[in-house]
Amino acid sequence: MKKINVSIFCDEIKNEKLDNGPFGETENWDYIGVCIVPTSNIRNLSIELNNLRCGAGNKYTSCSSNCSYHYSNQIKIHYQKYDTTNNFNIANRWCDVILNNITPGRFYMHILGINLNKLDKSYFKNSGEETNVEENIYNRFFRTAIIYPLKKYFSDYDIIEIDGVYHDTGDMKYHKYFKYQPLRYIDLNDDKIVCNCNEITFLETNHLNCLDDKNTMLQFIDLFLGANFNMLHNSSSQKNKVAIAKKLFPITDRFINNPNNINSRYYNIYSLSFFPRKKLISNASEFEKEIIKKDNFYTNREMKLQMSGQLSLF
Ligand SMILES: [Zn+2]
Repeated sequence: MKKINVSIFCDEIKNEKLDNGPFGETENWDYIGVCIVPTSNIRNLSIELNNLRCGAGNKYTSCSSNCSYHYSNQIKIHYQKYDTTNNFNIANRWCDVILNNITPGRFYMHILGINLNKLDKSYFKNSGEETNVEENIYNRFFRTAIIYPLKKYFSDYDIIEIDGVYHDTGDMKYHKYFKYQPLRYIDLNDDKIVCNCNEITFLETNHLNCLDDKNTMLQFIDLFLGANFNMLHNSSSQKNKVAIAKKLFPITDRFINNPNNINSRYYNIYSLSFFPRKKLISNASEFEKEIIKKDNFYTNREMKLQMSGQLSLF
């Protein structure tokens, strides 16, 4: 029996506007980004990423600490902060790790985008419940964002054991059911995926813990999610954010325009999917039927950011 142990690192972007021009409808989107790492690889990947923090080209984790920017490079790498030079430089080097990840087995990344305009929010509002609709939507789709890539990337395994699920701290930390519900559901309803953890762990990253393995992975998925968000929404014209988005553009472009190309070097390493293709009706039982239909998920979508000098494919 073939078994793999993985850990999952998650980040979110919630309720962001997508401007579709003067004749299109402005949409609101949620995104869930997950980085899946075979648990035995976490240490090595974390060291590889953190070594790239050195401003002098040394290996940061074993560098003499007298090199340039050593202390100032001990910072949280965060999409929101790419306008600062050292944050950008490190993120830029981490992009190379993403681009060079062409052999399955090291780490995997998946993004699920949810078009809130096409969901009937009344379905997500339970009477007497304290939590709000936006959080309930996120809670419902979180398990999809985990199950889909696990089944896709590890289809030739008999058992996929989840050792831990780590989430960047945020509103969801306070949601009534989020911490337990998605993992319990997966454990009970999926015969191939087993949860060794019974709750999601929330981690806050700062300059003191930013080199820790799990925090490093959360900064890494923040990079991938932030770059993809900018490609899809063209949300920021800040030059460093655009540079990061353009650097990873070839990966996303490939998936959006040719997702089923099994010869792609990133096939079964990265993926994106969007939901739903058509507007869903409010009836609860219909919703559960719709969400398991594969054809309601899609990949082909306009990227609002275009590479300069390149014609839009749309
Ligand atoms: Zn150094």
